[in-house]
Amino acid sequence: MDTKMLIGSNFTNGLGPAETIFNPRNGQTVVELPEASIEQIDKAVYAAEAAFVGWSKTTPGHRSALLLQIADRIESEAAEFAQLEALNCGKPINAVIEDEIPAIVDCYRYFAGAVRNMPAPAAGEYLEGFTSMVRRDPVGVVGSIAPWNYPLMMAAWKLAPALAGGNTVVFKPSEQTPLTALKLANIFSDILPEGVVNVILGRGQSVGSALINHPKVNMISITGDIATGRKVLEAAAKSVKRTHLELGGKAPVIVFKDADISSVVENLKIFGFYNAGQDCTAACRIYAHNKIHDKLVAELSDAVESIRYGLEDDSQNEIGPLISQRQRDRVSSFVERASEQKHMEVVTGGSAYGESGFYYKPTLISGATQQDEIVQKEVFGPVVSVT
Ligand code: NAD
Repeated sequence: MDTKMLIGSNFTNGLGPAETIFNPRNGQTVVELPEASIEQIDKAVYAAEAAFVGWSKTTPGHRSALLLQIADRIESEAAEFAQLEALNCGKPINAVIEDEIPAIVDCYRYFAGAVRNMPAPAAGEYLEGFTSMVRRDPVGVVGSIAPWNYPLMMAAWKLAPALAGGNTVVFKPSEQTPLTALKLANIFSDILPEGVVNVILGRGQSVGSALINHPKVNMISITGDIATGRKVLEAAAKSVKRTHLELGGKAPVIVFKDADISSVVENLKIFGFYNAGQDCTAACRIYAHNKIHDKLVAELSDAVESIRYGLEDDSQNEIGPLISQRQRDRVSSFVERASEQKHMEVVTGGSAYGESGFYYKPTLISGATQQDEIVQKEVFGPVVSVT
């Protein structure tokens, strides 16, 4: 297992306090990883700044070729990446191998192609004697910060476009799920010039905060909570950094009276509960027409009860546990508050599962109204409400 951060061309241990990385299936410690110190964050940013001088002048064709090499390496090491991701997140291994890795590899290949086909508005003589045009230049050093729900995929979404565009990056994975990013660092170090990608570890309030406030970081890209996005905007305003925010979600599904209920149920079982609902696009609040409401709730309840999880044979599992005890407590408290309201019913699920690990039973709540917290707030767990 790779445990060292990548700063410039050096693989190095963090000099800050350690964070415990858990296996969410059984709650056991996988490894303790120290986070970056302030000096190490500085070094990573300065390495990216130095690398930008040369990297920003490379041609799209050159960068494209290197991104394709990165894609090939991830593909050839897919089995090890999938195992690490499954270990760190508790995801069923088949979901990582079949759904995530192909999409991750494709993301690097997509941007390898896209950067060679950049559109630009027409140039023209808008002022007499002058030619005006728009050209696309890299921004500089990008501070990229990822959440824990799709660690390797989020790294791809952040790194591939930034690198394709000629930027250099300091990447911080979630403090809870750094293992695949540390493995990925080896691939970057083998293929890219020194300092183009740096991978540092640490918590949001210490390392993340130092990164987003760093004067030499030109752009911040973050996927995470809305509250975190707000902090990024505040930090960016101070030195006018560019930002890219992907924050929370609460995807609605509207079911009309003439809908094919079995098809709706089949799809809700997947899109409401995939990745144990830890998904900003989870189909988590259903609005059902009166005429089909009861039938939908009954059939959906059966489908939710059939979701397989926590089985010894991982190839049979459809969903995994939640990422942490803290996240499970959070999900549990949402359901508890809903169940205390008389107009709502927990039709199935509604409690933790198992003696170890961070499992929560797939849960269906009916009778929810538009004002209810369960309809308004993102739960980020295997909980779907019907209104
Ligand atoms: P989070 O905001 O707590 O953490 C996300 C990342 O931000 C982590 O790496 C964390 O260390 C860092 N961070 C936290 N505080 C910070 C600070 N003050 N300064 C800098 N960095 C900081 O979110 P999470 O709990 O890891 O992830 C779940 C959230 O992410 C959910 O709300 C979900 O909706 C959102 N999400 C959104 C998308 C999307 O594409 N829109 C995708 C996945 C997750």
